[in-house]
Amino acid sequence: MTATKIAILGVGKIARDQHIPAIAGNDTMELAATVSRSGGVDGVENFTDIAGLLAARADISALSLCMPPQPRYEIAVKSIIAGKHTMLEKPPGATVSEVRKLEHLAKAKGVTLFATWHSRYAAAVPAARGWLSDRQITHVQIDWKEDVRRWHPGQEWIWQAGGLGVFDPGINALSIMTEILPNPVHLTDAVLKFPENRETPIAADLHFAGPAGMTVAADFDWLQEGPQTWNITVETTDGQLKLTDGGAKMTINGQPQQVPEAGEYPGLYHRFAELIETGQSDVDVSPLLHVADAFMLGRRETVAPFHE
Ligand code: NAP
Repeated sequence: MTATKIAILGVGKIARDQHIPAIAGNDTMELAATVSRSGGVDGVENFTDIAGLLAARADISALSLCMPPQPRYEIAVKSIIAGKHTMLEKPPGATVSEVRKLEHLAKAKGVTLFATWHSRYAAAVPAARGWLSDRQITHVQIDWKEDVRRWHPGQEWIWQAGGLGVFDPGINALSIMTEILPNPVHLTDAVLKFPENRETPIAADLHFAGPAGMTVAADFDWLQEGPQTWNITVETTDGQLKLTDGGAKMTINGQPQQVPEAGEYPGLYHRFAELIETGQSDVDVSPLLHVADAFMLGRRETVAPFHE
């Protein structure tokens, strides 16, 4: 079988940490080029913009868009119009409607569009979804607390409109929540804390309602130093399921559960190959809808300025 030739566009932190190794470890994919304004990857042909790539490399059939969300839509449109299967880092866009437009465009052009949610590929997430599928859930507590200075040094885009602020990591929790809960929930109340010198929030406190009195509380905080917390605790009438380490580990009633080894980004590229092979797209905007709701319904508080 010939490997699918793929290009990475936007060679920054996530491309280097995860996408390049995941493609290298996937027999069905070959990193054939990059689009990078800052140089790209040693030994791989680089273009400074997508137009150059599209003009020169008709042999490349898939593009993986790893730049921040604000510039991604314009580049995704060019990719799809050129007939390329297109993979989007999370969040899939800076607005919900632009993602919808991309979905329609991909359908019209007959190419695969994959709006990825890497946290859904964390090792324990499928097992959590299975265990919860026939249980009555009473409450969910999400604690997503990390140190922005440690994980996003120098990234100005996260503080600019469309960059989502604390929802950049928080949407990962929402992508797991929407994957493992058997029924939809809706936002009922939110408080968003904006540093006085920034356009996006540094903390958020969210409340959701589900069926039969079920509730969800989510606490997102970007100023947590020391141990970092990426936990989702689900109370059911049969006991408690807890996901820790961003969904990599799981306990049920305090007992650690064995889950198959899985890598998030290898899982994403495996899925992308499968979608291309079967001529499908995978575009779920539900995590992004919850974020949009929080910006619509949430009360805003101004807090101390943030300086790196
Ligand atoms: P980043 O390192 O700040 O930026 C990624 C790259 O995008 C930059 O190095 C640059 O690449 C390109 N880029 C930046 N601004 C651009 C613009 N205006 N137009 C075109 N290209 C531009 O960001 P990142 O941390 O990799 O995050 C990128 C995306 O991945 C975000 O949506 C983020 O939520 C997601 N993500 C990040 C992480 C993480 O741990 N950082 C984890 C999971 C998902 P060139 O210099 O090569 O042009």
